[in-house]
Amino acid sequence: MNDLLPDQSPVWQYVESTLSELFARYGYSEIRTPYLEATELFSRAVGEVTDIVEKEMYTFDDKSGDSVTLRPEGTAGTVRAAIQNNLLNQPQRLWYFGPMFRYERPQKGRLRQFHQFGVEVFGIPGPDIDAEILIMTARLWRQLGIADSVSLQLNSLGNAASRAAYREALVDYLQARREQLDEDSQRRLERNPLRILDSKNPQTQELLAGAPCLLDFLDEESKAHFDGLKALLDAAGVSYEINPKLVRGLDYYGKTVFEWVTDSLGAQGTVCAGGRYDGLVEQMGGKPTPAVGFGLGVERLVLMLETLGVLPEFLNRQVDAYLVAVGEVQSAALAAAERLREDLPWLRLQAHMGGGSFKSQMKKADKSGADYALIIGEDEAASGQVTVKYLREEQPQQTVALEALAALLRE
Ligand code: ATP
Ligand code: MG
Repeated sequence: MNDLLPDQSPVWQYVESTLSELFARYGYSEIRTPYLEATELFSRAVGEVTDIVEKEMYTFDDKSGDSVTLRPEGTAGTVRAAIQNNLLNQPQRLWYFGPMFRYERPQKGRLRQFHQFGVEVFGIPGPDIDAEILIMTARLWRQLGIADSVSLQLNSLGNAASRAAYREALVDYLQARREQLDEDSQRRLERNPLRILDSKNPQTQELLAGAPCLLDFLDEESKAHFDGLKALLDAAGVSYEINPKLVRGLDYYGKTVFEWVTDSLGAQGTVCAGGRYDGLVEQMGGKPTPAVGFGLGVERLVLMLETLGVLPEFLNRQVDAYLVAVGEVQSAALAAAERLREDLPWLRLQAHMGGGSFKSQMKKADKSGADYALIIGEDEAASGQVTVKYLREEQPQQTVALEALAALLRE
């Protein structure tokens, strides 16, 4: 669980504002749900036999003996909130941002408290909305300057019946070759065989080359949905790769599943992942409601932006002007700073406090990244003036009346 230190927060603020503005441009509204939920919510929604529920949840009893869990993902809580608050009488396009908690082995791009942006859309059954959220994410990558470093993997899991039929065929195939599977996959064979498909073990992958293919088992409706989605993405110019072995680690998915992956992060290559979960709302006690969404890992996204060197230069500048106050001028300096903040609401002004020599204050002004040092010494304080020194361009300094300063800076 990381602290987010001041030198990192500008990058996070940039990512957060880019995403929230993008979602607003597509007509999505923000939802905030509690970080703590009843444990049962996740075991039911995410699935008992998933990595998350079996071994990754932060679960404890509260003071009244109820089992509660720090949310490991955002979909379950969003669905609960949407049902309880009657949001599902009409289509909803929602987004959220916040911390998620999973007890995993920490490593690069994998933390125990991490952060996700997520999108959940309710009440729209067709592939057009699957296409919209993928087109929106493609726009996000372009906006952040990483479109060349991510690619889209796409698959369809079909409906529950076709998944069950496929599951049987896969188990038959693997059962006959059981001794060639590693321990993890053997365990999954009984409990969650589809997860074997995304095993990282090369020997298992070799074995899977001859296995039955999920896409051959798709029911007509899922196939039409998948074909529709592919056609819409083709028309929109969003390229993708069909990966018939792409399954997701959560039980609620059916039909469309996808991952945006990168090879710039080593093993933790999935930045954004999601899919359709038409059955979940009903399973959680709501009326049948089609749904589709994704989660996007912010730590991985930030790592990517840093690794690829695509962060905008303006992030290094957190203040525009630095007020240098030399001598017994505290009251004049505070008044000048407030006057400027009154006149120029966009100005980011850091005022030096605590005294010190002119030289040491000018060093701090330079280090702050500000474009201007605004200097008030005893002469300036007496005459109601300020000296403006340009820190980033070759320009002679000038001394102006406090009343004229706002106009000069605006210019
Ligand atoms: P992975 O296969 O990497 O474990 P996942 O399938 O568990 O990912 P999801 O539950 O779909 O991931 O979460 C969506 C996104 O959240 C992931 O694609 C990833 O970017 C991010 N994410 C998931 N777990 C972590 C973690 N422990 N630390 C940081 N980011 C994470
Ligand atoms: Mg995981």
